[in-house]
Amino acid sequence: MRKAPKRPIANPSVTAPPLEIDALDTTKRVVDFCVQQGLIDGVSTDIEALIALDPQLSLKRVPLRDGIDAYIKEVSPGKYEIGVNSKHSKTRQKFSMAHEYAHYRLHRDNLSALAEGERILHRSDDWNSIEQQANSFAAEILMPEDHFREEVKRTGGDIAQLADRFGVSELALRYRAKNLGMRGHGV
Ligand SMILES: [Zn+2]
Repeated sequence: MRKAPKRPIANPSVTAPPLEIDALDTTKRVVDFCVQQGLIDGVSTDIEALIALDPQLSLKRVPLRDGIDAYIKEVSPGKYEIGVNSKHSKTRQKFSMAHEYAHYRLHRDNLSALAEGERILHRSDDWNSIEQQANSFAAEILMPEDHFREEVKRTGGDIAQLADRFGVSELALRYRAKNLGMRGHGV
């Protein structure tokens, strides 16, 4: 059953024990962790700060070749580097970071193909289950469901306003709306 939409999220420690950063294998745990750490400002998740808190991860902004959004690679045993294309907009970079973070959480034993870089949300093989998982995971942590539904109601489904609020591109916003089964005007 869905939680009451007006549930305050400010004091998660009352209901949940503190989460460890290496135990974030579901999007719910990632979101709870971000709330506990104060990484959600309003409704926008600070994915960069989440990556910075993880001692196994490092983040680089680099000018990648055209058509490539980001990569993740294991740079030494148990240490991973996420690179995002510095030529892209901040919002696009944000989704790319979350997508690579998802690969780190879900697929870290099988990353060799991603080390060369990949295109995210614009590719024809997004149906590929690994990519789909990473996109869903990214969308769920950047646009947590309760927040998303509340904001859609509040803005009347205005895509530009919603994208701005969550700090994501309109493409990512539409992806999330579709993912939650929303249709109609706006989202
Ligand atoms: Zn991917």
